[in-house]
Amino acid sequence: MNKLIFNFNSKVLKQIKNPKNILGGKGANLSEMGKLGLPVPPGFTISTNVCEIFYKNNKSLNSKIINQIKSEIKVIEKSVKKKFGDLKNPLLLSVRSGARVSMPGMMDTILNLGLNDKTVLALSYKTSNGRFAKDSYRRFIQMYSNVVMGVESHYFEELIENYKLTKGVLLDTELDENDWDGLINDFKKLVKEKTKKDFPQDVNKQLLGAISSVFLSWESKRAKIYRKLNQIPSEWGTAVNIQSMVFGNMGNDCATGVVFTRDPSNGSNDLYGEYLINAQGEDVVAGTRTPQHITTKARKKANVKDVSMEETMPKVFKELKNILKKLEKHYKDMQDVEFTVENNKLWILQTRSGKRTSKSAVKIAVDMVDEKLISKKQALLRIDPNSLDSLLHPTLNEKSQINIIANGLPASPGAVSGKVVFTSEEAERLKDMMQDVILVRIETSPEDIQGMHAAKGILTARGGMTSHAAVVARGMGRPCVSGSSEIDIDYEKRIFKTPSEEVKEGDIITIDGSSGRIILGDVPTVKPEISGDFSRLMKWADTIRKLKIRTNSETPIDTKIARDFGAEGIGLCRTEHMFFDEERILSVREMILSKTQEDRAKALSKLLPHQKKDFKEIFKIMSGLPVTVRLLDPPLHEFLPKSEKEISEVAKVVGTDFKEVKSRINELHEQNPMLGHRGCRLGISFPEIYEMQCRAIFEAMSDLKKDKQKSAFPEIMIPLVSTEAEIKIMKDLVIRVAGQVEKENKIKIDYLVGTMIELPRAALKAKDIAKHAEFFSFGTNDLTQTTFGISRDDSGKFLNDYIENKIFSIDPFISIDEGVGDLIQIAVNKGKKQNKKIKLGICGEHGGDPDSILFCSKAGLNYVSCSPYRVPIARLAAAQAEIKKNK
Ligand code: PEP
Ligand code: MG
Repeated sequence: MNKLIFNFNSKVLKQIKNPKNILGGKGANLSEMGKLGLPVPPGFTISTNVCEIFYKNNKSLNSKIINQIKSEIKVIEKSVKKKFGDLKNPLLLSVRSGARVSMPGMMDTILNLGLNDKTVLALSYKTSNGRFAKDSYRRFIQMYSNVVMGVESHYFEELIENYKLTKGVLLDTELDENDWDGLINDFKKLVKEKTKKDFPQDVNKQLLGAISSVFLSWESKRAKIYRKLNQIPSEWGTAVNIQSMVFGNMGNDCATGVVFTRDPSNGSNDLYGEYLINAQGEDVVAGTRTPQHITTKARKKANVKDVSMEETMPKVFKELKNILKKLEKHYKDMQDVEFTVENNKLWILQTRSGKRTSKSAVKIAVDMVDEKLISKKQALLRIDPNSLDSLLHPTLNEKSQINIIANGLPASPGAVSGKVVFTSEEAERLKDMMQDVILVRIETSPEDIQGMHAAKGILTARGGMTSHAAVVARGMGRPCVSGSSEIDIDYEKRIFKTPSEEVKEGDIITIDGSSGRIILGDVPTVKPEISGDFSRLMKWADTIRKLKIRTNSETPIDTKIARDFGAEGIGLCRTEHMFFDEERILSVREMILSKTQEDRAKALSKLLPHQKKDFKEIFKIMSGLPVTVRLLDPPLHEFLPKSEKEISEVAKVVGTDFKEVKSRINELHEQNPMLGHRGCRLGISFPEIYEMQCRAIFEAMSDLKKDKQKSAFPEIMIPLVSTEAEIKIMKDLVIRVAGQVEKENKIKIDYLVGTMIELPRAALKAKDIAKHAEFFSFGTNDLTQTTFGISRDDSGKFLNDYIENKIFSIDPFISIDEGVGDLIQIAVNKGKKQNKKIKLGICGEHGGDPDSILFCSKAGLNYVSCSPYRVPIARLAAAQAEIKKNK
């Protein structure tokens, strides 16, 4: 479609499939309200496509577009019987941004456009209200000069304040026409002084300037940050809405306000809003005058003595109430509505879905099902699965003043404050003294596990969303901000520097693992609360979804949490994580560093009882459900001892000296440990390691059976397979050990053997691999790493640049990339061709990401597996995927 500009009443609009994509949310809703017969000031929308053209055309509007704008202005002129720039009856316009999704306060708005030294006189004469005309003009100069010409607004405020002081008055409303006249002159002088340009008198120039600045505001710093936080693609662009102005500041029969059809803070079904008599929209939000309540009920509840709109303008209030009902019924959602009353006539300026807290979102959705306004499916689609995070973790009290000193990746949700510590030992020491700490590390390794446990939260300078810190923190349910390249840590001096601050050990900081913010000082948090509405919604999700939801867990505590959250098994038990305990890691190191099979066997025999005990506990908690146990996959760099103390410890256990261990570490050093001697390569070189693990699994099952306890159903998973031979050799090993344990204990053991698909070759040769694998689990962390050749540990350093340069719209370690998705689809198809019954799942971190869950559902997977706290999110996302797929 070539049309770029649309009148609110344009017939063409009916043919547009997704009006919000073209008209933006505000434009689409304005034309929708027009169709409903609601009182909307006439106007038109410049589509989001023009935003793209504007940027391609060197940030300017071409003549074709300018002509279309002019002809649309004529349509408004005809409808309101006023003329733009006319010296008798001037048309004034509002120019507002409007992206596909609302970005409150992020982009620019200009009101009263079309006023200049001459039209202001005409307005004054026409309305017989000189004060109103001059007040409108000064507001316009203030807004336009700020938004389009870049003059900071405080300069204007200072002029007004100084003038009020000289005149000896307190309120703006005490200034008369002559006062504003004088201030208008001062404003114009200020503009000239700051910009070396005159304030534009040509109304067409004003209009084009305003439109351009709305488009430019799409790329403003604050809009970019908002987009990043809310994952809004930058290519969407914004639309611009141009409307005839209506005035809430023409006298005491005028007003302006904002109203929500339900209370956004708790979701209750009560109108909630504020209004101001004789004012323009920005007065309500600016805080210069205190707005009053819309309803008497709310006024009484707040225990204030002002007068509600219900009391001062009962007729208009009644009309407003009816319109709000109509709007909610039409949109089937809570609306946030802006209105203006001009000489007792009500105008609706905007409606949109109201922003609400996650808790109210759940309440409103469930209530609307009970009110038969929406179906259960619609209710499920209403809730952003990611927003459930805030119902499961503490969040920052957003009313608090915060000093953000740096940002990082939102690696594990939740907000927490504590004293900065740089070592695990210090974290544990302070924890023992009942103090809250945040463990700050350049990156974490298994050494830090104790410290991570002791800390309330974790902050790292390096590492992406699937780095050690991120994965472990999520599993533990600890808030974590990872990969903050803005912080510079000096372990020796025990400080870290950010662009604005130097933070010492012991200083208090707050991290918000849901947004990636790092904040100086203590910030109050709000505790999560799981309501009955939440459980109802989850039950609805469970009846609809087809995907099973499992969890990634390797400790009894996390496994219990996950089962309570509704996990239907374990999709990934990373056995190397079971060795993080201080005592065990020593045996793991002993095993890794051993030179002979004999030494290795000695180390393994120390690990076997620990493994067996852990499996028993986990199998008990997940009884009756599948548990995928992945055999050892330790990237060596995560497990080798680093500090002198650690090396000495290992030397002591192995019975050798420091030098010997050091030289062995050098021998084992790898240039690319992520691509090194890990995964099944370890099992091929040292089968006794996997034999020990299988024995631990099967003996745990046998013990449970003997104790007459119900066990989980193990699915033994071989990591990092890329060839048919690897899986075949490994499967034979598993079967052999199972046979031995069966014979020794005279029992029958049920289990599956399968593999991870986490290397491109495995995906491409999935048909051969499926000859031996009873299940595939997509390890999308490694699959993403190896498909792109981007290190998951180093990506945090440069992924931001990729997102800023629009190479990626989102971090591919968070949401499955298309190319990685193609590999998954190939593997699914080939795997199924070979083995119709093959079980398919995903256990990479993407398993908890709603968009990736939709992909998995479409790709034909049977389950997704995610960290325990994401289980409810995945349950909802899986239900949404099912609904969307069948739409
Ligand atoms: C993966 O690679 O996606 C995976 C789950 O394994 P890990 O993160 O342990 O390498
Ligand atoms: Mg992996």
